[in-house]
Amino acid sequence: MQFIDLPAQQKRIRERIEAGMKRILDHGQYIMGPEIRELEAKLAAFTGSRYAVAVASGTDALLMPLLAENVGRGDAVFVPTFTFIATAGAVALTGATPVFVDIDPETFNIDPASLEGAIEKIIAEKKLTPRGIMPVDLFGQPADYDAIQAIADKHRMFVLEDAAQSFGAGQKGRKAGALARVAGTSFFPAKPLGCYGDGGMVFTDDTAVHEQLLSIRVHGQGADKYTNVRVGINGRMDSLQASVLLAKMDIFPEEIELRQQVAGRYDRLLAGAVKTPRILPGNVSAWAQYSVLHPHRDKVIAKLREEGIPTAVYYPIPLHMQQAFAGLGYRQGDFPVAEKTANEIFSLPMHPYLQPADQERIAEVITRFS
Ligand SMILES: *Cc1c(COP(=O)(O)O)cnc(C)c1O
Repeated sequence: MQFIDLPAQQKRIRERIEAGMKRILDHGQYIMGPEIRELEAKLAAFTGSRYAVAVASGTDALLMPLLAENVGRGDAVFVPTFTFIATAGAVALTGATPVFVDIDPETFNIDPASLEGAIEKIIAEKKLTPRGIMPVDLFGQPADYDAIQAIADKHRMFVLEDAAQSFGAGQKGRKAGALARVAGTSFFPAKPLGCYGDGGMVFTDDTAVHEQLLSIRVHGQGADKYTNVRVGINGRMDSLQASVLLAKMDIFPEEIELRQQVAGRYDRLLAGAVKTPRILPGNVSAWAQYSVLHPHRDKVIAKLREEGIPTAVYYPIPLHMQQAFAGLGYRQGDFPVAEKTANEIFSLPMHPYLQPADQERIAEVITRFS
């Protein structure tokens, strides 16, 4: 059994992928080929965003909007402590300080009440300027953007959506990637929409931000490549990755629908045996992960492993306890919800091609244990 079955997906689209790769071998535009613009147009339309900018990774898709916001030393950007390291890493790379916030115990997303408290504390300390908030749509479920945007507006801060796990998700009729002024997503192979390497995309409706992103993507270029108006990065996506994503987009809406069915089946099979995920009314998850809680997580995982069933733990260590951020002075106990979640959470195999029989076997092993 596979945790994420990319071979099953590849079987469906292999010919389309090979045709796309051949086209690039023929035209030779490996960097910024026509596939890039085609993909940007397609995904902008999919999310309902005015602009999409294809980039080299999900990490760059978060770093580049922060550079566009001119975030740097002395600035505070608020992030959940329970997320992948790249969310806070992107902030730290600009010289700004990531300020950690606890999570909601039901959705595992940034908790608006804790966020408000963290901002008040930074304002009272008068050391850092509160500049922005980076909610993460963890495991594919959008964060609480109504509450977060209201807090951001009150304090005149920007919101940057970390949609790395939520491409394909939605909230109240809007798509993930379009839930804040700027959003970044990732196409790492294991994400809901993945390429065959690294890739990412930034979405925005803002023309000025879009122009800045285009410049930052190519070393801060101005009118041409050798006129540089700011310091940027090499943040371009390869044409080959764009062609893989174009092939995968043909079946992506259907895959998102299949993920809903897989999640619904898990919900029914596992009710009462573990704490199953809660998707809030108005949200559609992209189901990047199906993550459950159990007080004896490690024992359940060991049983599943004996039966040949793969699992993963996202995330065993909250970011405020990571050595990389030891200098920020956080301590064990600072974020009790995130710390408890990190001890009890684990993720089950989740992909559009997971068979009901496999899900029944997984549930049988877990139910027998509980
Ligand atoms: C995967 C991920 C990223 C980084 O994306 P990469 O493409 O691996 O650079 C950022 N934030 C979150 C929440 C992620 O899951």
